[in-house]
Amino acid sequence: MPLDLVTIPCLTDNYAFLIHDAASGDTAVIDVPEAAPILAALRQRGWALSQILLTHHHADHIQGVADLRAATGARVAGNAADAHRLPPLDLALHEGQTVQVGNETGTVIDVSGHTIGHVAFHFPASALVFTADSLMACGCGRLFEGTGPQMWTSLSKLARLPPETLVCSGHEYTASNARFALSLDPDNPALVARVAQIAQARQKGQPTVPSRLSDELATNPFLRAGLAQMKARLGLSDASDAAAFTEIRARKDRF
Ligand code: ZN
Ligand code: FE
Repeated sequence: MPLDLVTIPCLTDNYAFLIHDAASGDTAVIDVPEAAPILAALRQRGWALSQILLTHHHADHIQGVADLRAATGARVAGNAADAHRLPPLDLALHEGQTVQVGNETGTVIDVSGHTIGHVAFHFPASALVFTADSLMACGCGRLFEGTGPQMWTSLSKLARLPPETLVCSGHEYTASNARFALSLDPDNPALVARVAQIAQARQKGQPTVPSRLSDELATNPFLRAGLAQMKARLGLSDASDAAAFTEIRARKDRF
C-alpha cells in the first residue's frame, strides 16, 4: 500500500506534506512553515505524528517545528551538516541514509544549490519525492548559497528518478514560473498545455503542487537546460549543460 499524501497550504504560499502508512499508522511531516494547519490536518484524520523531516534551514520551512514538536512529541530529522542552523535534531542525516515511515523507506538526497545542505526525501515505493526549494513545479529555487553547477548536479539527480514520481515541492510559485518558462520555450506544446492547466487550477484556488516528474521533464526549463534547442535559444549552443542552466537561472532572477 502506498503512503497516503496530504498537501497542506501554510503561510501565504508554502506547502507542508503529511505522509501516512495506513498499515502501521506511522505519520511523518515534511517541513513545518507553521504548526497550526499541520495539527489541524492530523486531528481531522486522527493521525499521530511520529517524525518531522526537514529539507533546509530557511525560516519558512522550519519556524513551526518547536510548536509542532511540543504538541506531538515527534522526532526531528534533518541534514547533519546543517545541524547548527536547524532546530535541535533527534536524527542527523547524511546523503544516502534512509528514513523509515511505517513499512516504507525513504532515501536522503543532497540537493544543494538553493542552500548548501538542502536535502530531498525520496520514497520510491510510493513514487514520492519531497524537494522543497530545489526542484519546483515548472521552476527551481533561487541560488542563495550554492552555485549554478551545484544546483544543476542536484536537479540532475532528481531528473533521474522514475518519471512517474510525484514532485512535492515547497511553494505555490507555479504560475509565475510558467510565465518565465513560456518566454524561453514558447513552441513547446507540452508547456503551452501545462500553462493553461496551471491557470485553470489557480483560478479555482487549487494547488498546482505536487506535480509529475514526467511533466517537469517535458516543461520545466531548468531540467531542459541540456537540450540543444534550449541552448540554441539562449545563444549558448556550445556551452556545457551546467552553464546553460546557470544562464537560465540568472534570467529567471531578472524576469
Ligand atoms: Zn528556502
Ligand atoms: Fe522556501
